[in-house]
Amino acid sequence: MVSFTKDLILHFSLIVFLGFMYNYLYMQRREIHQRRWFIGSVFLAASLTMIFPVEFDQSLYFDLKLIPFFICMFYIGPAVSIGLLGLIIGVQSFITGSFVPIILLNYTIIFILFLSLRKFYSHKSLKNKLLIGLGVILIVGTTRAGALLIGGSLEQIILLLIYTFVSFIALAGTIYIIEMTNFQLKTINELHKAEKFSAISQLAASVAHEIRNPMTTIRGFMQILQNDRSLPGNYDMFLSVSLQELDRTQTIIDNFLSLAKPNNSRKHHLDLTALLYQIIEFMKPYAHMANINISSEIEENLQVNADSQEVRQLLINIIKNGIEAMEDGGNFTIHAYIRNEDIYIELVDEGIGMNKKQLERLGNPYYSTKEKGTGLGLMISYDIVNRMKGSIKVDSQMGLGTKFTILLPAVTHRIDT
Ligand code: ADP
Ligand code: MG
Repeated sequence: MVSFTKDLILHFSLIVFLGFMYNYLYMQRREIHQRRWFIGSVFLAASLTMIFPVEFDQSLYFDLKLIPFFICMFYIGPAVSIGLLGLIIGVQSFITGSFVPIILLNYTIIFILFLSLRKFYSHKSLKNKLLIGLGVILIVGTTRAGALLIGGSLEQIILLLIYTFVSFIALAGTIYIIEMTNFQLKTINELHKAEKFSAISQLAASVAHEIRNPMTTIRGFMQILQNDRSLPGNYDMFLSVSLQELDRTQTIIDNFLSLAKPNNSRKHHLDLTALLYQIIEFMKPYAHMANINISSEIEENLQVNADSQEVRQLLINIIKNGIEAMEDGGNFTIHAYIRNEDIYIELVDEGIGMNKKQLERLGNPYYSTKEKGTGLGLMISYDIVNRMKGSIKVDSQMGLGTKFTILLPAVTHRIDT
């Protein structure tokens, strides 16, 4: 019993160490090969738990290698997990002195199971992730209990219960620490993004403002010149073109200033359904030129409280990006619906898609992969949605396409009785 407890404490620390390692690597030592170090820690933990397994009695040993494998599958990736599987088989063969086919079989089944759960897992809340962990531990515990019921003693079964419970606590603790670390990292990144954006828009606004004054002066003088009858014929035309261009510049600056100064937006009840249909009609010719068909499924009577110009700009930015991403044509789908007081607008393209790195950079000013891109479209779109107290979610797969989901608070009509 004493050695059992000692072993168990050792294993518990070994597993929870993974959580702390993750936190340390990703929070304190950003940038410096965190992934490599974390993979190393997981491999080390798996090897140690196998070399020093928990002793139930002289003939019965269990280890916790499943947990590093779980962490590896769900938080590192399938390719590395295959490497880990190789290591597990290697260590096991080394310990027992011969190849153990049952481990290969078991872990191949577990690998396939985890692989099919991966996507599902990544979208779940912390509570559900813990439940999935509990499920995995229970399944393994039950198969072991089944084996013991046939050939084991009562004491062994009690030890197994304790062991299973401690395994779960260790896994839960590790998942919790990793998830909290990821959550903190995400918050920090969002803060940085917001900070960068507000600094840039403030700077840009002050520059734009400064440009406005000299422009007014130039415009005034040019008008005086235009009224001068003694100018040779052509000059009159030059001046009117220059004035027109100046006015155009003025409009661009005004628009920009209204963006940089969020308080200028004029919010009102907006019929989003009608606006969406309008925008689709507006974008259709552009889409057809690129051999793209826009299809839509839009619920009736979607209402938001917003500035219609802004919502228009937001949607056009995202639809335009989608169209630009589909170099070989295809379908662009717009789906809008209301669920629990939130309006969801899903904009799905079948374009080139983005990888994880690209997704992280979305919305950063001047981030563009296009030759003639500005890298401002999405930044402005994120800002518009933020100010509407909504959010944007992006799912993308390289070569398959991208889905932008915009969530906006709906205006619901209350019927007073
Ligand atoms: P721009 O369109 O001027 O490049 P945006 O801010 O609109 O600037 O977009 C930034 C970058 O995000 C694009 O250059 C592109 O790489 C990527 N992107 C945006 N939307 C998509 C999409 N639907 N599919 C693939 N990549 C996209
Ligand atoms: Mg764009």
